Amino acid sequence: MTKTRKPLEKYRRIVIKIGSALLVDRRTGLKGAWLNAMCADIAALRAKGIDILVVSSGAIALGRSVLDLPSGALKLEESQAAAAIGQIALARAWSESLSTDDIVAGQILLTLGDTEERRRYLNARATINQLLKLGAVPIINENDTVATTEIRYGDNDRLAARVATMTGADLLVLLSDIDGLYTAPPHLDPNAQFLDTIAEITPAIEAMAGGAASELSRGGMRTKIDAGKIATGAGCAMIIASGKPDHPLSAIENGARSSWFAPSGSPVTARKTWIAGQLLPAGSLAIDAGAENALRSGKSLLPAGVNDVRGSFSRGDTIAIIGIEGREIARGLAGYDADEARQITGKKSAEIAAILGYAGRAAMVHRDDLVMTAAGLRRDLDTERNTANA
Ligand code: GLU
Repeated sequence: MTKTRKPLEKYRRIVIKIGSALLVDRRTGLKGAWLNAMCADIAALRAKGIDILVVSSGAIALGRSVLDLPSGALKLEESQAAAAIGQIALARAWSESLSTDDIVAGQILLTLGDTEERRRYLNARATINQLLKLGAVPIINENDTVATTEIRYGDNDRLAARVATMTGADLLVLLSDIDGLYTAPPHLDPNAQFLDTIAEITPAIEAMAGGAASELSRGGMRTKIDAGKIATGAGCAMIIASGKPDHPLSAIENGARSSWFAPSGSPVTARKTWIAGQLLPAGSLAIDAGAENALRSGKSLLPAGVNDVRGSFSRGDTIAIIGIEGREIARGLAGYDADEARQITGKKSAEIAAILGYAGRAAMVHRDDLVMTAAGLRRDLDTERNTANA
């Protein structure tokens, strides 16, 4: 894994988090010119074939500016109401601004459970991936209208990091009024040193983060470092940069100061390690020879290749996949509940809708959710060796 910075255009999928203060002025409301310039930067990256996802804050700030609420902390129901008013305006602004660059925007509002509960996580991820496949730019925020104190991210830094890991992004860019990480808060300590590259988030790095949060944006450096731990731990690099210049992404490209956090593993490995590492699979699927070959060549497991469904599991649970010799060869996340899986076992994917009454996913276990386990891998190697010796 490379520990050196590369230009933005070398990344494949970038999540950009935009802080409230960049988008919203307390008195004048939405900063339209800034947004337009931001969208031009996004369009330039997209033209290079890079997937872009935006995590945009600003719903509460915009709503409170529309409502002309006094400054100071808001009560929960006030911020929920402000978010309801602000989010509709925010989404519209993104949609209109991106459309001038011929880009379609899609709004996704997430609550904590959508990334923490496996089933909902898979569902949200499928929707976001579909948007990207269709060429749209997802505009994501927390659903602040229903988020309560106990059940919320509360800051979009960590939300953006979860979105990055969920979608297998290789870069997360946090844009706010802070241009990067310093050894101490620069406004308090004149000797604070700027850090250009952070190879690893050590306890010493964490200690530099302090606590600060401004009135408009809840996330300070603390939540940015937390986001860094989530992202880099799953193989996604992170940049903290100032969003204040009119074209913040171009500014990063042109050498504006920013801190780069190196990724610590590859996205696929981190995710597949998680799947392979589940201690107790909730059930298993016995598959036929054709399906076994398909899996070994990196394909998804289709219902047609399944002979038997064992155990009781829900969609999103980890299940074992048993090969023709009766041994576990792979693990994966179930695309269907066990009883649904039983109904479509041995059937063609095209028949699923008629059997279940809704158009489900074509795969019983999608290849993105599937990993050959040790036994399976060993056998792959043996097969390779035998073929090489033959
Ligand atoms: N979700 C909040 C909003 O849109 C912002 C949270 C944050 O600033 O991190 O108003």
